[in-house]
Amino acid sequence: MNNSPQRYTITAALPYTNGPIHIGHLAGVYVPADIYARFLRMQGNDVAFVCGSDEHGAAIPMKAKKEGVSPQQIIDKYHTIIKSSFEDFGVSFDNYSRTSSKIHHKTASEFFAKLYEEGKFIEETTEQLYDAEANQFLADRFVTGTCPKCGNEEAYGDQCESCGSSLNATDLINPKSAITGAKPTLKETKHWFLPLDQYEDWLKEWILVGHKKDWKTNVYGQVKSWIDDGLRARAVTRDLDWGIPVPLKDGEGKVLYVWFDAPIGYISSTIEWAEREGKNWEDYWKEKDTKLVHFIGKDNIVFHCVIFPIMLKAEGSYILPENVPANEFLNLEGKKLSTSKNWAVWLHEYLQDFPDQQDVLRYVLTANAPETKDNDFTWKDFQARNNNELVAVFGNFINRVLVLTDKYYAGEVPAPGEFSEVDKHTLATLKAYPAVIASSIEKYRFREAQGELMNLARLGNKYLADEEPWKMIKTDEERVKTVMYVALQISSALATLSEPFLPFTSAKLRKFLNMEQEATSLPGNQATSWNEVSTKEALLPAGHHIGKAELLFSKIEDEQIEKQLEKLEATKAANEAENKKVEPQKEMATFEDFTKMDLRAGTIVEATKMPKADKLLVLKVDTGLDIRTIVSGIAQSFKPEEIIGKKVTVLINLAPRKLRGVESQGMILMTENSQGKLVFLNPDTEGVENGTVIS
Ligand SMILES: [Zn+2]
Repeated sequence: MNNSPQRYTITAALPYTNGPIHIGHLAGVYVPADIYARFLRMQGNDVAFVCGSDEHGAAIPMKAKKEGVSPQQIIDKYHTIIKSSFEDFGVSFDNYSRTSSKIHHKTASEFFAKLYEEGKFIEETTEQLYDAEANQFLADRFVTGTCPKCGNEEAYGDQCESCGSSLNATDLINPKSAITGAKPTLKETKHWFLPLDQYEDWLKEWILVGHKKDWKTNVYGQVKSWIDDGLRARAVTRDLDWGIPVPLKDGEGKVLYVWFDAPIGYISSTIEWAEREGKNWEDYWKEKDTKLVHFIGKDNIVFHCVIFPIMLKAEGSYILPENVPANEFLNLEGKKLSTSKNWAVWLHEYLQDFPDQQDVLRYVLTANAPETKDNDFTWKDFQARNNNELVAVFGNFINRVLVLTDKYYAGEVPAPGEFSEVDKHTLATLKAYPAVIASSIEKYRFREAQGELMNLARLGNKYLADEEPWKMIKTDEERVKTVMYVALQISSALATLSEPFLPFTSAKLRKFLNMEQEATSLPGNQATSWNEVSTKEALLPAGHHIGKAELLFSKIEDEQIEKQLEKLEATKAANEAENKKVEPQKEMATFEDFTKMDLRAGTIVEATKMPKADKLLVLKVDTGLDIRTIVSGIAQSFKPEEIIGKKVTVLINLAPRKLRGVESQGMILMTENSQGKLVFLNPDTEGVENGTVIS
């Protein structure tokens, strides 16, 4: 256990203000970050836990346009909703800022200007995608197309959400404007690029060698595959009118790329906090003994492990992250969480249906945290964990202790007699828990840490069940005093050690036990409460009066869960209805247009998975003319072995294109059924030979 105080800067991913936040955000980033920050404060560390709303980037003006309001209205609306969700769930930021603030504009501008003056950028005029109809350059979210890495047809101009690759808009195959739907043209424009490739050797040394052992394998693996792919220069400016203006004479009409300005938001938020609290922000970003830890979801790994560190390194005066404990994704009832498809449990809605039960959600999300792989949230599991763990173990133990203490001793902690071997062992085990839980938290294993907290409650429950003070009171009143004394010490330890995980429960329990101790995990605290659970002689001394007993947790009934499941069923039905909409007829094609397409009957003779691509299969197809390679995005609907021998329709004169380095020479015709499964359009009649023309 780390006993010497240390300075920490903890950041949590800046939520993007184009929607409210849901359980996936909470599980992936904010609950683990909050547990970590609260725990560190209780151990006497100096903590700056900062976050803020990310309010720039192309998606904000796009959403504003769609809703017919101003971008400012969009960011104000969601900043308010998001900020209050964090407050409601007890996320204990020292500061929650926003990137539209003056202080951030100044910080980000100066950061850019310094790199510019020191010649860290490459200035380049390149051809970029341009939508002539909208009179606008298309970058990032303004353009969609096929991902060159995995074949996902809905990749964005900055990133493919399917395979996680970071892209340049000009990398997309068949790009399409997200504003007008038009096929973009190329037009020249000047931008400033950060030459990531120049930092490749340094990055290899720092992460691949230096953090091989202490970074999570999912994070390390993603960074390694990035570096192995080779880094390229990346534009840090954009042709856009929403964002932080490029602070250069020839930067007019251009803004800083949102992924350049957003991480600087951590610094601005720290500056804002330091000014308010009379601290020196530079201690938290430039002192070598400060530990910087970024909490993020897996979709942000590249930005926090490659791009932002390179920015900090290029600037030269900043420290680098000590760790980036990124989580994988949380699914909901087996399906990917989706804001646009409303497949989510929204935090503000959860609180309407389960008022005052923030800790139940915090508990379940931590117990199920996607720390090493994607995980699933189900309402049945939520109910079971509440009823079987929080109510039946933690709540039951506390309730027995409070009720019996009230009944036997009118709420006064009894003086113990001589401790038995079991008592001594129980108290010694109790005193070991702060170190046991701390060791898991320090390794960013929050579900394991919370599991240990529950083991302490189990220890208490078992102790009472074995000693049976309710029976013994008739035969050995003196012994019952000792038993209740021990049980009360465990209750007090639970009140303290649960605070990072279940802050609302901890506050209630401290009140029930009439503990003097205020919350010690909140901003500004540099407490000794965590270790005192081990070092204090008596956590609740004999003679101390406890308060009134109330229920700590309450049972969640089947009807409440049914209601949530019905809500999701309704969403599913609405999404299916949406999907069933028949696409409108496309513009007229001439007979010549049609006869240009050379469609043939063919047979799949070989099928293998494309390495490292979830969606792609590499097929060998007998077209009657030849056996050729076709790369097809069907891997999520079919296993390679089940389609060998399949009769298919092939467009054979489609210009070849490379997918993941494999040249695809044609296209197999597919459609989708109402459940979203792909199906082959095959010439379904006996005796159609490969190579037969379809017309
Ligand atoms: Zn992709």
